[in-house]
Amino acid sequence: MKTFSFEEASDAILEIGKRMYEKGLVVATDGNISVRLSADRLLVTPSGMNKGMLTRGDLVVTNMKGERISGRREPTSEIKMHIKAYEVRADIGAVVHAHPPYSTAFAVAAIPLEECILPEIIVSIGSVPIAEYATPSTEEMPRSIENVVKGCDGFLLRNHGVMTVGKNLLEAYHKLEMVEHLAKITLLTRHLGGPKPLSSEDVRKLYTLRKETDGAPYPGCRMPSSQPGSLEERAELIKLIAEEVSKILKGGQK
Ligand SMILES: [Zn+2]
Repeated sequence: MKTFSFEEASDAILEIGKRMYEKGLVVATDGNISVRLSADRLLVTPSGMNKGMLTRGDLVVTNMKGERISGRREPTSEIKMHIKAYEVRADIGAVVHAHPPYSTAFAVAAIPLEECILPEIIVSIGSVPIAEYATPSTEEMPRSIENVVKGCDGFLLRNHGVMTVGKNLLEAYHKLEMVEHLAKITLLTRHLGGPKPLSSEDVRKLYTLRKETDGAPYPGCRMPSSQPGSLEERAELIKLIAEEVSKILKGGQK
């Protein structure tokens, strides 16, 4: 289990909060960050404060029920979503949640970033699916992310934003930047005739590389399609053809 000292965790949260705000990945009091201190302690950002202007005294230590153990502020209202991520992923030490404009646009349009178009994304994150919509800060939120966070280090939250996880906070933050960069590139590519996904063979080679580079436990990245239509549409078409062929063959046997 990845844990960090209070000093390490607070320095990292203040630094990453500042970067998130300065890069426009959050505005106003958006977003939240947490780091695992021990099996039953998290250091989290406070509720209702700008993440670019935090001081050490603003951070809050909670237990794994989200109850405040120390600190003068209220913990982030999204604490339960963070706790769920730590519960299902013993390998992670930090969680970041933000509302970056390009990836949030994909989350609002309900379009996952699952096409295999950039090697570095496949190796470091895999694909970026969408967790079902849930009302922020309610019990629905941890339930909505449970299955997705099991297999992915970065994903969209439908009509909401992005969440990323990592062994440490810098890694989780880099994944947030990468998801936003992928969203921006995907959108630009759509104006240039649409992305041309990598071949299945190229993706397989990247999967091998990914295992060697100690990536997330389950890549989850869909195999790209070299033919028009989604994989589901193609599977449906193949099924229909097989049924027709089978009928013809049976007819011929009579
Ligand atoms: Zn949010």
